[in-house]
Amino acid sequence: MEARITVLPGDGVGPEVTAEAVACLATIAEQFGHAFEFQEALIGGAAVDATGDPLPEATLNLCRTCDAVMLGAVGGPAWDRHPRDQRPESGLLRLRKALGLYANLRPVSVHPSLEDASPLKPEIVRGTDLMFVRELSGGLYFGEPRSYSDEAAVNTLPYTRGEIERVARVAFDLASVRRKRLVSVDKANVLETSRLWRKVVDDMAPAYPDVAVQHAYVDSFAMALITRPRDFDVVLTENLFGDILSDEAAVLAGSLGLLPSASLGGSVGLFEPIHGSAPDIAGQDKANPIGTILSAAMLLRHALKLDAEALALEAAVNHVIKGGHGTGDLKGATHPHGTHSLGARIQEAIRPPRNKSPRLADSAYSWCGSPEGHRSNH
Ligand code: NAD
Repeated sequence: MEARITVLPGDGVGPEVTAEAVACLATIAEQFGHAFEFQEALIGGAAVDATGDPLPEATLNLCRTCDAVMLGAVGGPAWDRHPRDQRPESGLLRLRKALGLYANLRPVSVHPSLEDASPLKPEIVRGTDLMFVRELSGGLYFGEPRSYSDEAAVNTLPYTRGEIERVARVAFDLASVRRKRLVSVDKANVLETSRLWRKVVDDMAPAYPDVAVQHAYVDSFAMALITRPRDFDVVLTENLFGDILSDEAAVLAGSLGLLPSASLGGSVGLFEPIHGSAPDIAGQDKANPIGTILSAAMLLRHALKLDAEALALEAAVNHVIKGGHGTGDLKGATHPHGTHSLGARIQEAIRPPRNKSPRLADSAYSWCGSPEGHRSNH
């Protein structure tokens, strides 16, 4: 298959981690006989410095006309004092909006050999296998009116039935091919938006008779998430709650650097790790590239519909982690690596031993966030 992939390295550790993800995709292409073409473009602070705009028109055009977009991260202290429309993050928000990406999928699971990497007890995190479905193009981040003065500031939290339905459908569909449990997180005891959210989810539930639906208030769910994470399967949230809860859930996996995401809904999907630009470790070959590499696996699965290739990449990551290889953020990694050498290990693991098919044996774990199916052999 031929595919054109736009690569937006961005700022901080973004260029380091995307380089490894692109190298993994190139290795997959070589192994499976595909032709992937990669085109780099500017976004975030790098784009502000070069053009004055965090999302230049040329970048947006490239993203609109390719098959998938791979992003590193944006932001950093150098641009913190810029006006809002010239901040790196506003370029990313505009890109998500322009591509019509309303559903952000964030799988969080705990690799069996990283149960000790979490600050939580292994018996709490063991077997965790969650799929967050976060609404991405509405809510507080985009709501109008919004204003700021040094004396008073306003943000608005609007949602329409249609906006809730389309993201809830993604969550119901995923739940029905996973463990058939959906928890919808809201604050319906206080917020009108949440009351509507809850009603829409309840109205849709009869169409999915095999999915057990549960509602939870965001405050108590924040606690349940780190005390009994195994009890949950698909977690549906609005934009802000999902942003916060999925970072909290990273504690379960052992490092923010491990977690991938896919933003879907429009004709072109965006694939990026959930972490930011990590300015504290940027340019030092310390960043964990696994979250970005697993985002590349999500790209193969969701954007290019290459399921066997996605599984092969996830299996390679799994194999490398199982072998004790990791960057410094992974407590317990017995073979320490920098960003580049960990990426190279994974690329090497994609290539099968001579005369064998690409490595699939290690994909038996549900770990690595294969959203299509929960595999029960944890
Ligand atoms: P961050 O995710 O960049 O970093 C939080 C902590 O996690 C840091 O200690 C960092 O070193 C560590 N970390 C992050 N990624 C890692 C990786 N791959 N490997 C190892 N350790 C890793 O969050 P922050 O510090 O709050 O934000 C830094 C900048 O990133 C800010 O400008 C923020 O606005 C931006 N940001 C961007 C995105 C995005 O591009 N999607 C998301 C979040 C934050």
